[in-house]
Amino acid sequence: MKKHLWINGEHVEAKEYKSLITPYSKELLADVAVANEKEITKAIDAAENAFEKMRDMHAYDKADILNKVAYLLKEKKEFAAQLIAKEAGKPIKAATSEVDRTIMTYTFAAEEARRMTGETIMMDAAPGGENRTGYTVFEPLGIVGAITPFNFPMNLVAHKLGPALAAGNTVVLKPATQTPLSSYFIAELFDQAGLPKGALNVVTGSGKTIGDLFTTDNRIKALTFTGSPNVGKALKERAGMRKTLLELGSNSGVILDKHQDIVSSVKRCVQGAFSYSGQVCISVQRLYVHEEIYDDVISELIHQTKSLVTGDPLNEKTDVASLISEEDVERTLNWIEEALNDGAKLVHGGKSIGHQMVEPTVLTNVSDDCKLSREEAFAPIIIVNTFKELDEAISRLNNSKYGLQAGIFTDDIHKAFKAAKKIHAGGIMINDIPTFRVDHMPYGGVKDSGFGREGIKYAVKELSEMKFICINHIE
Ligand code: NAP
Repeated sequence: MKKHLWINGEHVEAKEYKSLITPYSKELLADVAVANEKEITKAIDAAENAFEKMRDMHAYDKADILNKVAYLLKEKKEFAAQLIAKEAGKPIKAATSEVDRTIMTYTFAAEEARRMTGETIMMDAAPGGENRTGYTVFEPLGIVGAITPFNFPMNLVAHKLGPALAAGNTVVLKPATQTPLSSYFIAELFDQAGLPKGALNVVTGSGKTIGDLFTTDNRIKALTFTGSPNVGKALKERAGMRKTLLELGSNSGVILDKHQDIVSSVKRCVQGAFSYSGQVCISVQRLYVHEEIYDDVISELIHQTKSLVTGDPLNEKTDVASLISEEDVERTLNWIEEALNDGAKLVHGGKSIGHQMVEPTVLTNVSDDCKLSREEAFAPIIIVNTFKELDEAISRLNNSKYGLQAGIFTDDIHKAFKAAKKIHAGGIMINDIPTFRVDHMPYGGVKDSGFGREGIKYAVKELSEMKFICINHIE
């Protein structure tokens, strides 16, 4: 099967195609278009031509289209989940929950399309402002260039398309090379839902080629990127005056202070560390455990990790499946070896087990200098450290170039507030893991974890511009 480009509401044949192979079974899924500069420019032309229609579209029409997409997706939920499971190698349980979340994301976007309101400014609060009425409105930017990663191929695309279209922009979307099918599928749903032709265009191919055009074609007014920090930073440097929204990586930490329900908190940590084989930007990577509960936590952690089912993503029972590439398996094993050579102790897992899989792995005593402490693992690995005083745990958790989300479990409300105040991250989860996210909450990072916020309401503001209007009442 050939997957053509999606330009101006039509499948457009490309000059070149590349085979897409599923990570677990190595089955051929499709031959996917690799867009060249001319074809990408055609997509930008289509987005430019559709802009006037989108800009002038009534809020209720935009809301209606977004709601219809949510409805159509609900009808095709099983098919959509299979698509994600196959192209991303994501366990079907997690893929199904991603589709559920995507439905919510488009539903929130429909609501926000009706709520793009500004505010009234009290002009006579300053001398000279008497007899004037001031108010703000939000206007679309124009064409948004969106680039998305492989790990949530449907919901993270929704976090680009939902707010961009709700705000009245048009979009050229570049999904990850490993996971293009979800995006082409969603484009067809938008077409069925009545989105004007050209308002959404999907181009697949080299990130470099498409990224270069997104940062040099002056018709692209905003760049919204989710992916790795190095690519994001390079794009921002080249983006010039374009609005740029970056959702990047992390090596998220959780503090387990003394608390009662260790079984429940460890259960959440195991979910947070090993869901989708740890290939989640807010995966639990670093655990800081109070020394008085350390032994109990470790034995519960091993017990619960052992109960995870590893295998075929299409099996309903599977919890942990393949990594996205063989290179990632190699990298993960090298990082584990580096930590062990530096004195770390392997408590569980640590090996590759075929089908591009790595066992869920628990390590203790990992030095702060090792890659597993400093970098984003993006693999099924959790490292466990101990602490005596909360200040020490906070300081070690903050000792990271990243700052996306963090968590603390504690029965002491004062410690919870202290952690919330002192941890430097975009979001702090009290009595939960950093992996917690629902799709309307503000979401984004500090430091190398990103720039700007998603969560539909917040992304709508990022992808529009405020205009101030002032009336001088002449009597
Ligand atoms: P990635 O390698 O950075 O790729 C992300 C996207 O960027 C892909 O579409 C990729 O295309 C494209 N790309 C690659 N090189 C490019 C370039 N030079 N110019 C423009 N685009 C380029 O990331 P990934 O491996 O797919 O995803 C994992 C990363 O995403 C992790 O760091 C994770 O933490 C982060 N992430 C962050 C969030 C968040 O919300 N903060 C959510 C999910 C994931 P190709 O596929 O063609 O290379």
